[in-house]
Amino acid sequence: MTMTKSDRVCGRFAPSPSGRLHLGNLMSSLLAWLDVRSQDGVMLFRLEDLDPERSWEHYADQMADDLRWLGLDWDVGWEPGSQDYRQGTRGDFYAEKLKQLQDMGLVYECFCSRSERLAASAPHPGEQRDAGCGCRDLTEAQKSEKRSMGRRASLKLHVPERTFIWTDGHYGKQVDTLSPGGDDFIIRRSDGVFAYQLAVSADDMDMGVNRVVRARDLLGSTARQMLLIELFGGEVPAYCHAPLLVAPEGRKLSKRDGDLSTEGLRERYTPQQLTGKLAKLAGLRETDAPVHAWELVSDFSWDKVPTEPIVIDDNI
Ligand code: GLU
Repeated sequence: MTMTKSDRVCGRFAPSPSGRLHLGNLMSSLLAWLDVRSQDGVMLFRLEDLDPERSWEHYADQMADDLRWLGLDWDVGWEPGSQDYRQGTRGDFYAEKLKQLQDMGLVYECFCSRSERLAASAPHPGEQRDAGCGCRDLTEAQKSEKRSMGRRASLKLHVPERTFIWTDGHYGKQVDTLSPGGDDFIIRRSDGVFAYQLAVSADDMDMGVNRVVRARDLLGSTARQMLLIELFGGEVPAYCHAPLLVAPEGRKLSKRDGDLSTEGLRERYTPQQLTGKLAKLAGLRETDAPVHAWELVSDFSWDKVPTEPIVIDDNI
């Protein structure tokens, strides 16, 4: 799967098929696509269906269809019916990457249930780091005892003390310090499902992705992904985060705020009308007049995009 290294920009769509795309996903997808197309880069589609309990084929097909409906295309990657470029089929590759970390002595068994359930999903809500657990210091006897009680361990990465300093393509200078213990994180769940952080880092590296554009709620995962890519011996991509869409008063968008799923949006708007609205919200155009995504490419610039959350009301 390893793509040849090239100087060309390579960005990606990386949706998880756990539901229908909503307006926020469309905004980050549009910005990721404009970022790549305005640099004459390669766009890749990777299906992030790691968690079998939260991935549905029909949503995956629908996501591909929704992006194309909006006028967003890709050059390589997953297509409906294909087994390539989908995380659900890449377990052997993730196991190799895990082995690499184990050989460095950085992986330990954790018997706690905390953070387990969501470890395969990108940690969008509230980005919590736990206070650390004592599992790293368990003796062999203690581990056997837990196993004999039927507890299955997840695997955690023991992070070194390390301060990452980098420049986000939209949010500028970032500083994030990872500390051993509290910032250790799950890389494989106790049910054997690999965690989002491991899979996304390994895949970005393996697929030659050198620009990661995604919504701002994943900014807090960036240092952990940079760490993993460094440990794997890869080149860290440039990261660029897009502002979140929020309801008035900064509330998270919810069903109360009108039907902002692509299902409802496709009923109400043509692709050009919706792109016009997204372009205005993103600061790319002064009016929301209908426009094709390709017409936004030539004068796309992150300087026009706000850094503050973009407030959406019912009138979209
Ligand atoms: N699959 C993740 C999501 O749908 C995005 C991961 C990423 O862009 O790093 O939330």
